[in-house]
Amino acid sequence: MVPIPQVSLAPDQLSRQFLVCNVCNDNYNEDGKHARLLPCLHALCFECLNKTKVDNQLQCPIPTCKVTHQLGDLDKTCPRDNTRRDLMDFVKVKRAPSAVCCSVCPSNIATYRCKQCAEFLCGECQSAHKRVNATKDHVLLEIEKLKQSQDLDAFCRQLTCGEHAGNDLKLYCTKDTCQKPVCMMCAIVSCKETNGHKIESADTVADAKRQDIKDQKSSMTKVGKEIQQVTDNVKTEQEKVMNLRKMVEDEIDETFDNLEKIIARGRADLKKTLENCVIAKQDHLKDQERGLKRMKSEIEESSKFTEQALAYTNAAAFLQVHELLYLKKIKKIEFVFYFLILFISDFDTDQPNNHEQIENTHGAVLRQGAP
Ligand SMILES: [Zn+2]
Ligand SMILES: [Zn+2]
Ligand SMILES: [Zn+2]
Ligand SMILES: [Zn+2]
Ligand SMILES: [Zn+2]
Ligand SMILES: [Zn+2]
Repeated sequence: MVPIPQVSLAPDQLSRQFLVCNVCNDNYNEDGKHARLLPCLHALCFECLNKTKVDNQLQCPIPTCKVTHQLGDLDKTCPRDNTRRDLMDFVKVKRAPSAVCCSVCPSNIATYRCKQCAEFLCGECQSAHKRVNATKDHVLLEIEKLKQSQDLDAFCRQLTCGEHAGNDLKLYCTKDTCQKPVCMMCAIVSCKETNGHKIESADTVADAKRQDIKDQKSSMTKVGKEIQQVTDNVKTEQEKVMNLRKMVEDEIDETFDNLEKIIARGRADLKKTLENCVIAKQDHLKDQERGLKRMKSEIEESSKFTEQALAYTNAAAFLQVHELLYLKKIKKIEFVFYFLILFISDFDTDQPNNHEQIENTHGAVLRQGAP
């Protein structure tokens, strides 16, 4: 038998991966809890398979799989996985802290294993095995040696034909409708080559099929590498996106920082302009105030002089000052009065033109000055 390549033979790992039912977590055995292989290549014990199936369907209990299988002929869709029996014995020998019990008389400690019977034997049973004709040619292997060995071959039991008791399944019928291991008797009776059946050595077929699987595995490895490559690319893209995000974020921050500066500068500029306007307006209003004061004192002065002039009894003297009084003062007061009315209307109206016009006129009067 070809040794199984690239499989870890650490007993604990083997046990966890292959020898425990995925549903009830019990070890597989050779009876009710023997291993059954689902089409998705996950396994469970026969008992759990029967409990899990609904009508003729079974959903794989592995959480990452959950594929539903149509069962049909149970022995074909979910065959018994006998490779696990050999593994079970291998683990039993490797794991046992000190001893493995005799398969025939379990109270005794086994010292040998019969390769053909796949049984552990104590000293007594080993002697008996050697004596009996049917078993005297069987290969007996020392358990102590098996404990040291890394070879699974010693644990491979020869399967026998279900229809022809005692006949080893050493052949294989490759006819499309058969595709199964057969015994010598099968090859003569049900798989006669003259009836279109094709018989080959089970080892040869197994080797060819193993090679096939190895080839498949290497293409799987290739696909796996490609997936890894794509995964790496996706990761790189993710990093790129994150970097780009950082860049754009920085750009947004910079833009808005600049906008804030521009707004702050605009605010300061506008306030400065406003302040200048207010100062100009205040200056102008103070000028007006001064002008009004001057007008007021002029009127008061003229009024006093007028009273005094009217008090003159001397006609000639009155007439001498009359011209000065009337033309220069009273006429001027009429002007002042006229402009004062305009000035008041300056505060009543919203019309900027009026405002400006009055201001100009008023300014012109002031600039003319009192005589
Ligand atoms: Zn189970
Ligand atoms: Zn599955
Ligand atoms: Zn034997
Ligand atoms: Zn025994
Ligand atoms: Zn047979
Ligand atoms: Zn056949």
